[in-house]
Amino acid sequence: MQERIVSAQRQSDDDPQIEVGLRPRSLNEYVGQEKIKEKLTIYIKAALDRGEALDHVLLYGPPGLGKTTLAHIIAWELGVNIRITAGPAIERPGDLAAILTNLGHGDVLFVDEIHRLSRTVEEILYPAMEDNALDIIIGKGPGARTLRLDLPAFTLIGATVRAGMLTSPLRDRFGVVDRLEFYSPAELIQIITRSANILNVQVENEGAALIAGASRGTPRVANRLLKRVRDYAQVKADNIITGKVAEEALKMLQLDSRGLDEIDRRLLIALIEKYEGGPVGLDTLAACISEEPETLEDVYEPYLMQLGFLKRTARGRMVTREVYTYLNLKPRDDDQQKLW
Ligand code: ADP
Repeated sequence: MQERIVSAQRQSDDDPQIEVGLRPRSLNEYVGQEKIKEKLTIYIKAALDRGEALDHVLLYGPPGLGKTTLAHIIAWELGVNIRITAGPAIERPGDLAAILTNLGHGDVLFVDEIHRLSRTVEEILYPAMEDNALDIIIGKGPGARTLRLDLPAFTLIGATVRAGMLTSPLRDRFGVVDRLEFYSPAELIQIITRSANILNVQVENEGAALIAGASRGTPRVANRLLKRVRDYAQVKADNIITGKVAEEALKMLQLDSRGLDEIDRRLLIALIEKYEGGPVGLDTLAACISEEPETLEDVYEPYLMQLGFLKRTARGRMVTREVYTYLNLKPRDDDQQKLW
């Protein structure tokens, strides 16, 4: 996968210490996602009143929208510990058993990329989620026996890009399933202003609005752009992110006002010039920008669809009329018929 300034995924130059510093700690500080926050506030209060563990929670949506942050906040609001791991990191059933037996009552276990758990590991999770039990098989062959161990009540929080990537037995065991949405420009401005405060940099409203517009609806991108624009402001201006400074810095990063970069433009132009605007299959389109089809589908496409630039149809991907206006291109006669 290519490193892009607008990538919503964690990158090698994202300083983990700064990321943690910028992370909101409570539901009050967590900007946006109002529907999820409202529901969680009720569920958390109810669980606390009953002295029980919160039901298992599945959070899904594109990367960088705040799933990990929300898991930390849930644990903080519940006043319990959080243990963090990821699907690919749990290789054998024994690894998961070790994690589960070390949890305290009511603790949160956060599993990122939960769709990447292996089948055998996943099967350990079923009784753990349902009955707080760990089934251990002793011996092999006809003499093998199952030993059932009790586990403390815990809350599993799973994160994934698409809920459909989970097997249905796993998905069915989550009591709370929520999709995170892209953030509005106003919410991103709030996040940028808050982060600028923490990073000790002055940002004017117009500057924050321009960075927000280029952040692809994604807090992780907003924070990354803020850091790059801050560097620019420090070296080229008096440390103040004005509208002009933000505009120049974004131009230097080769981003347009909606946060599209060279790769996005290449993808849209290829769709128009090579495939008459589509429909074209996912694999072919991914090859145009030298990306894996999964990356294109889960990471890049959601934002282009959110902008209304790309459509998924039964026969493949198509551009919309808006793209021609955006790229300043005139549809050919053939394209016209498909678009109107
Ligand atoms: P995900 O797990 O969905 O990939 P993260 O939870 O790691 O995303 O979020 C990436 C960064 O974006 C965090 O470090 C945090 O600073 C910021 N962030 C995410 N959601 C919010 C929010 N709702 N309010 C403020 N900052 C946020």
